[in-house]
Amino acid sequence: PQQKDFLLAVEALTVSFDGFKAVNDVSFYVDPNEIRVIIGPNGAGKTTVLDLICGKTRSSGGSVRFKGHDLTRMREDQIVHAGVGRKFQNPSIYEDLSVFENLELSYPKGHNVFGALFFKRDQAVIERIHEVAEMIFLGDHLTDKAAHLSHGQKQWLEIGMLLIQKPELLMLDEPVAGMSVAERRKTAELLNRIIQDHAVIVIEHDMGFVEDIAHKVTVLHQGKVLAEGSMEKVKTDPRVIEVYLGH
Ligand code: ADP
Repeated sequence: PQQKDFLLAVEALTVSFDGFKAVNDVSFYVDPNEIRVIIGPNGAGKTTVLDLICGKTRSSGGSVRFKGHDLTRMREDQIVHAGVGRKFQNPSIYEDLSVFENLELSYPKGHNVFGALFFKRDQAVIERIHEVAEMIFLGDHLTDKAAHLSHGQKQWLEIGMLLIQKPELLMLDEPVAGMSVAERRKTAELLNRIIQDHAVIVIEHDMGFVEDIAHKVTVLHQGKVLAEGSMEKVKTDPRVIEVYLGH
């Protein structure tokens, strides 16, 4: 397919830290409605790849294109605006606020006005908050303080805080770390709902979860792409077994 058909095109992406190539000539392409999982040993460069895509780290070579736009030289906030949302491992929710208020605060600015006198909760905002809360299994918890949620519910709330901004690509760093079996299952269900209108890139170590969710897996090793394809294909690749799965 043509370049522009991919939602995200990462090409020859490279970054060095003091001469050490943490990400070295990495290329991969993500389609709309795809769940891509990045796996690989610690230090393989997985987090750095996401940092490069979202603009947290500047690349020293290569390019990142999203819907045909070059993200490579954009600032982090411009990349968010372009439609790329990133969730880090530790939830950055407001513990003292309710689920509703956390979602409300994440609603894209410019659609409503924050400020004691001017604030107005318009119907569209309220409806969107309810819609997202249902999606993240928190429809019955809108008035609960975030501090009182379970670990898994907090992770979902943070995903909801991204979803409310309507990104087209979500990047999640180990979304099921620390979750119960039931929460993992629901997270897989959530991701399958999300990809109806988004693409998702996930960094994950839990191979059972990867098997459940991945459309395609990219295996990184020492900053390079070691293998790519379906989980079926990747898990029988001798090089992948040697450096990662065999442990
Ligand atoms: P992974 O997420 O696969 O565990 P990382 O992307 O976190 O790997 O790290 C890849 C390599 O780059 C590691 O050797 C790490 O120490 C190094 N690295 C990551 N970020 C920095 C940085 N800001 N400065 C120096 N080295 C870094």
